[in-house]
Order: sequence, then structure tokens, then C-alpha cells
Amino acid sequence: MTEQKLISVIVPCYNEEEVLPLFYAEITKVSAQMQEQYPELAFEYLFIDDGSKDRTLQKLRELSRSDTRVRYISFSRNFGKEAGIYAGLSNAKGDYCVVMDADLQHPPAFLPTMYEAVRSGEYDCATTRRVSRAGESKVRSWFARLFYRIMNRISQTEIVDGAQDFRFMTRQMVDAVLSMTEYNRFSKGIFSWVGFRVKYLEYENVERAAGTTAWSFWGLFRYSIEGIIGFSTAPLTVSVILGLVSCLIALIMIVATVIKKLCFGEPVDGYPTTICSIFFLGGLQLFCTGIVGLYLSKTYLEVKHRPIYLVRETEENRDRFAAADEAKKEP
Ligand code: UDP
Ligand code: MG
Repeated sequence: MTEQKLISVIVPCYNEEEVLPLFYAEITKVSAQMQEQYPELAFEYLFIDDGSKDRTLQKLRELSRSDTRVRYISFSRNFGKEAGIYAGLSNAKGDYCVVMDADLQHPPAFLPTMYEAVRSGEYDCATTRRVSRAGESKVRSWFARLFYRIMNRISQTEIVDGAQDFRFMTRQMVDAVLSMTEYNRFSKGIFSWVGFRVKYLEYENVERAAGTTAWSFWGLFRYSIEGIIGFSTAPLTVSVILGLVSCLIALIMIVATVIKKLCFGEPVDGYPTTICSIFFLGGLQLFCTGIVGLYLSKTYLEVKHRPIYLVRETEENRDRFAAADEAKKEP
């Protein structure tokens, strides 16, 4: 018999009580099919409850009671999906790790193909790339495309448009990702930064099975700024160039004024130019300090070395918390 290979399926969940049962049914079905085809495989399902406010945690408790392959980590509050992915990868025991969403937008049916690509050693990672953004609003897709265009122009780390956080990775790549312990995590950048051989599988966008997306437009906007700041220092250069250009303009204006004074004397006008230059330079300065501030704030958060996530409950101390919850419900 060949050596056993464990696949850890890592699923960050935030308010996913509605889709969890669907997801569990689907993933166990696919796992069973894969085990038939590749008898060396074993699975563990590692759910990360990212401080959900609904009954996600209770659902996870139930699942972990009835199925020993189910493990979970419940955060002390909402830390964001990036922290969830990091926690999952740090705690996974598998020879391979898969990161996927709970909402079935990352169809488990891809797993056999992904495993096939990675198993032979030809690739270290298999991921999906959506070729359409069906089911997404036009404005949102437009901004998404704009983000990728800007990002790839100003950053050395290539971020593939449509690439997703649905990844099947070898232990080697997982360890590489974990060696990046930064606090401001932008997974798309991190996965690309570590390199390795990546196989892209293309597919059409699928809509959420149930529940609603946790991402608002502004949430996504902030996230894209995070990506740019985290993986490029180009904005700092922009601010330096803007500063230089405005100094140059000011210099020309000074020379022009002096010449004008010498040739024509000084009438009282000049009020508009003064106001204009004050506004122009003031705006420019604010813009540049703003950019510097953004980098500084990120550096500030990094040097604090805060933990990326904090755990309240796992399947190991489950019964203590479950008992308290049930006692509360009784009266
Ligand atoms: N998620 C999370 N923490 C958050 C927000 C989202 O763990 O703060 C999880 C969520 O449960 C889901 C995945 O991240 O499994 C993707 O979220 P969602 O479907 O809302 O995003 P979208 O598919 O619209 O990008
Ligand atoms: Mg989704």
C-alpha cells in the first residue's frame, strides 16, 4: 500500500449557517469519490469561524461531534478572511492544503483535477481563475478590472486577474506562505509572491449557494488599497514626482513674476495667482503626506507584532463552551 496522504480542507466562515450543511454534504461527497479513485488519500476539514454572529459555531460543533474529520477554530472576534486563511494554514496537518470558501462559489468538484495536477509534482499549486464575472454588478467588475490593471503596472508581484483564494497547495508551498508573518495580509499578493509552479484552471463564475456576501463595495475598496500598499511602493514615488513637479512650476512662476516686475512694474493684481498656488501646493502637500501616512500606518501595525488572530474555541475545548451555551438556552 502506498503512503497515506492527508488533505486539509480549510474553510473560513463568517455568518455561514445557511450554506454550511450544503457545503459539508458536497465536500464529503467529493472526498469519498476521490478516496475511491486514490486510496492513499485521507481528509480533514478545518473550519475557521471568524467571529460569526449567527449559529455557524453551533453548526460546527454539531459537525465535529458527528464526524471526527471535522476540526474547527473559532476566533474571539471577527479578524477577517485573511486571518482565517492564515489560522487554517498554520493549524492544518495535511500534506496538502486546500483553501476554499464556504458558499460553494469554489466548487469542490474541482478538487480531483487539482489533486491530479499537484500529485505528479509537476505543479506545487493548483488554483482557479474565473473567466467571467457573471452575477456581479457592472460597476464592481469595472473597478475590479481597474484594480488589477493598476496593481500589475506598479507592482513587481504579478496578480492574475480573476485569480481566487481557491487553492490546492503542497506542504512546501504552505510553509512558504506561513513564513510570511506580516500582519497586513493580502493573500492574492502573498500567494503570488512566494512563486512556485501554479496551474490555473479556468471556470465561469458561480453564484453563492445561500446567504449573502460579507463584502461591501467600500470593504473591497479598502482591501484593494491594502493590496497596493502591501505589494508596491510606487505611490511613494508618485508623491515624490508630484512634489518635484509642483516645485518646478513654482520656480517658473517665481522667475516669471520677477521678470514681469522688472519689465512692467507691479500693479495690484496677482491675487488670483497667489490663491491658486496656495491651493495647488496645499493640496499637493496633503496628498503626499497622505501617502506617506498610509505607509507609516501599515509599518506601525507591523512593528507592533500583534497576533494575526486569537482563538476562543476549538473542537478540543468544545464541550466547555457548548455546555454553557445550552445552559443559557434552557430556562
Ligand atoms: N469570510 C470570512 N471573514 C470575513 C468575511 C468573509 O471568513 O470577515 C469568508 C466567508 O465566510 C466566505 C469567504 O470568506 O467563506 C468569502 O466571502 P464572501 O463569499 O462573502 O465573499 P465573495 O465571494 O463575495 O468574495
Ligand atoms: Mg462568496
